[in-house]
Amino acid sequence: MYTGETMVPSVPSSLALRLGIVLSAIGAAAGIVDDGGMSDKLHILDETPEQLKTWFGDRGLPGYRAAQTRKWIFDRRAADFGEMTDLPAKLRDELYQHFTILSAEVADANVADDGSRKLLLRLHDGQTIECVLLRDDRGNYTACLSTQVGCAMGCVFCASGLDGVARNLTSGEIVEQMMQLQRLLDGDKRISRVVVMGMGEPLANLDSLLAALDVVSARDGFGISARRITISTVGLPKGIRQLARANCQYHLAVSLHAPTDQLRNELVPANRKIGIAAILAAADHYFQQTGRRVTFEYVLLGGVNDRPQHARELVELMQGRPVLVNLIPFNPVPELPYETPSSLSTANFVEILHGGGISVKIRYRKGERIGAACGQLRRRNMS
Ligand code: SAH
Repeated sequence: MYTGETMVPSVPSSLALRLGIVLSAIGAAAGIVDDGGMSDKLHILDETPEQLKTWFGDRGLPGYRAAQTRKWIFDRRAADFGEMTDLPAKLRDELYQHFTILSAEVADANVADDGSRKLLLRLHDGQTIECVLLRDDRGNYTACLSTQVGCAMGCVFCASGLDGVARNLTSGEIVEQMMQLQRLLDGDKRISRVVVMGMGEPLANLDSLLAALDVVSARDGFGISARRITISTVGLPKGIRQLARANCQYHLAVSLHAPTDQLRNELVPANRKIGIAAILAAADHYFQQTGRRVTFEYVLLGGVNDRPQHARELVELMQGRPVLVNLIPFNPVPELPYETPSSLSTANFVEILHGGGISVKIRYRKGERIGAACGQLRRRNMS
């Protein structure tokens, strides 16, 4: 899971652990909500603006009432129709009878001393997902969102996929993560960036994701420009092309993690049916269609894919492509046998990429402080 990005090397995990404070009590403050009998009500966040307008229209109500309701939800952060005091009481009651605003409850939460927070949300069917609010040094907030319950991709170093995938999230459940994270902030503070780097493979649930990102980027939604939204994928060429067709200006990040098919097949089993060449072709196409430089993510696993030879092969692969390589030192997962790379091998890797003319960033894993590797909080709660 994405947890912030800088050129500063990662802090040792012992220090990170000491900095981490578990605050389960935060759940109470952060909005454990009555699902209001979710089973027979619709999740209002699943309704597109047009659908909501139609709902109002069907009841002989003017369209502006739909816009008013959305403003209460997205702008004024209302979690209850009762708060919508400029709507007629009868309408508020009718909305309450049909819809729920928040359909999940905060089951657990971690907070770090830099203000970053991770929430475990329990969905209406009892499934759990994670989302994270990251605070950078300038006080800007980034939301990291999940798109599936679990993940089917099976990347060997990732905690999210250890139990496979249970189901896709609806667009409303993706939007709700934004709502729940935004509720953690004071009224004058806003989320300014979104990374779709939580649990799941975003391009395996692309329709729901695109519908959710419409709300995230809409002026009368969260108002976050598409250029500040990053979608991270294991590299599904069909999905990348579909995203290119949607031409939404989202930033695309591809999780490469190895410079050869042989090694990638081991680390990212989904690669066996895809292959690096098809992914690069789709990424090139994305750049041509959108003009947006693609990022390639590369999790550095000590002794596995962090050798000078791997760096040289990566330079070869990226040659002539206007890309950014994002190196992510492995964020330890207790049940997995991989190790964080030494600072020396990381520095060597960076130097070889720089020498080959490749732009590089190292992702400093703030989330380590809050156990933020994909799926960790969820697993802790499952066991
Ligand atoms: N399925 C998508 C998004 C999920 S995870 C994808 O594969 O991109 C977002 C990023 O975090 C991916 O690059 C993923 O490989 C990485 N990641 C997962 N577990 C990690 C860990 N333990 N340490 C470091 N990075 C990890």
